[in-house]
Amino acid sequence: MEDKLQKIVAMCRRRGFVFGGSEIYGGLSSIWDYGPFGARLKKRIKDIWWDTYVEKRSDIVGLDSSIIMHEDVFKASGHLEGFSDLLVDCPKCKKRFRIDKIEKLSDTAYKCADCGAIIDTKVSKPRKFNLMLRTNMSAIEDEPNYGYLRPETAQGIFVNFKNVLDSVHKKLPFGIAQIGKAFRNEVTTGSFIFRMKEFEQMEIEYFVNPKDADELYQKWVEERFSFYIEKIGLRKENLRRRPHEKDELAHYAKACTDIEYNFPFGWSELEGIANRGNFDLSEHSRVSKKDLSYLDDAAKERFVPYVIEPSAGVDRTFFAVLSDAYCEEPVNDGIRVVLKLKPSLAPICAAVFPLLKNKPELVELAKNIFCDIKNKVPASYDDAGAIGKLYRRQDEIGTPFCITVDVESLADKKVTIRDRDTMRQERVDVSKVLEFIENKLQQ
Ligand code: ATP
Repeated sequence: MEDKLQKIVAMCRRRGFVFGGSEIYGGLSSIWDYGPFGARLKKRIKDIWWDTYVEKRSDIVGLDSSIIMHEDVFKASGHLEGFSDLLVDCPKCKKRFRIDKIEKLSDTAYKCADCGAIIDTKVSKPRKFNLMLRTNMSAIEDEPNYGYLRPETAQGIFVNFKNVLDSVHKKLPFGIAQIGKAFRNEVTTGSFIFRMKEFEQMEIEYFVNPKDADELYQKWVEERFSFYIEKIGLRKENLRRRPHEKDELAHYAKACTDIEYNFPFGWSELEGIANRGNFDLSEHSRVSKKDLSYLDDAAKERFVPYVIEPSAGVDRTFFAVLSDAYCEEPVNDGIRVVLKLKPSLAPICAAVFPLLKNKPELVELAKNIFCDIKNKVPASYDDAGAIGKLYRRQDEIGTPFCITVDVESLADKKVTIRDRDTMRQERVDVSKVLEFIENKLQQ
């Protein structure tokens, strides 16, 4: 499985999905950049989420709040005090681990996940690392004025709760959804885009009457679980729900379930869904001294709403999509690597090639077909290589259809359309190419 991870990382680099951040200067640990196809795939994931929850639902509104936030936000949220990982160093291989992520042998002994040595916490004492990233907003170096890069998009939602309520007058239950960057000074590194210092989240804070919280929490767990199967196309057997044990819960949380994915290195969190009670709004109300309660007109009742939080990572979803779609298949001339992406996620939906690039009539027809379809479906034109190489390139970026213009096309006005997964080829009228692809996409 680790081998699969290396293959995916290599494929991402080779085909322009993900590159190391600041790579020409030696790179930065746990910082990654998305290349041309990665940026498209990532955008598709975000668009599907936004469309499902903001555009298609009347009980959820969108928000785009700032990344840099006031220090007091994180005093209220508890991040400045308590947002830290407990880390231990292995005495033998010197690698550093989060204590909650390695095998516990006894109250004071842990097993190094790398070399297997025993880590005695009486000797290698666990140390706290705060995950918050701070930035100086003052123009004068020696008179600093610090702001913080948000470690989750959620806090932008909580501090805008009243603004949203007063401007769009929603009744409970209602949600505020946001997609955006978050920053954590993660110290344990090295799992590709699974754990980054700069990453993106898709979060909903769904505000509810406390009496409805348990039921709506369960509904959100099911809703989010099926989203990954139906909308993102992940295989059900690679997903599971993991309810948190009582001793794992944050002190304010009433319940939490992780949706885990079977990544190449094992089952790990893709998303967390929590019933956070009224902790966040109450704390922001206490620290800011602003009233963040809600008046239920019908029941003539005023209370601080509870919040159900489905919190998903864009990058982890992206990683899960690649892991699920990555296949190697024997073909005549060796092994083909193919990304069997759900067509609606594919960076390119159809690629058009002329069989011979030195035949101007073929090139012209291929370019005309490309121009015809590119405004309707994401398409590309490619003539940089022999046909086998062109197919291989498109298979690796997950393009569902390849359209080839050959010499016969000039006479019979038909082209060959090859299906990515079955590799079956069909002759289709030039005038029907778009219709053919659009029909297939709807199946
Ligand atoms: P973990 O235990 O793996 O560190 P977490 O429980 O701290 O994750 P949450 O605070 O619940 O994560 O964040 C919600 C989601 O944001 C996670 O499920 C994940 O998809 C994403 N996420 C969190 N931290 C990172 C990170 N460092 N890099 C990429 N995605 C992240």
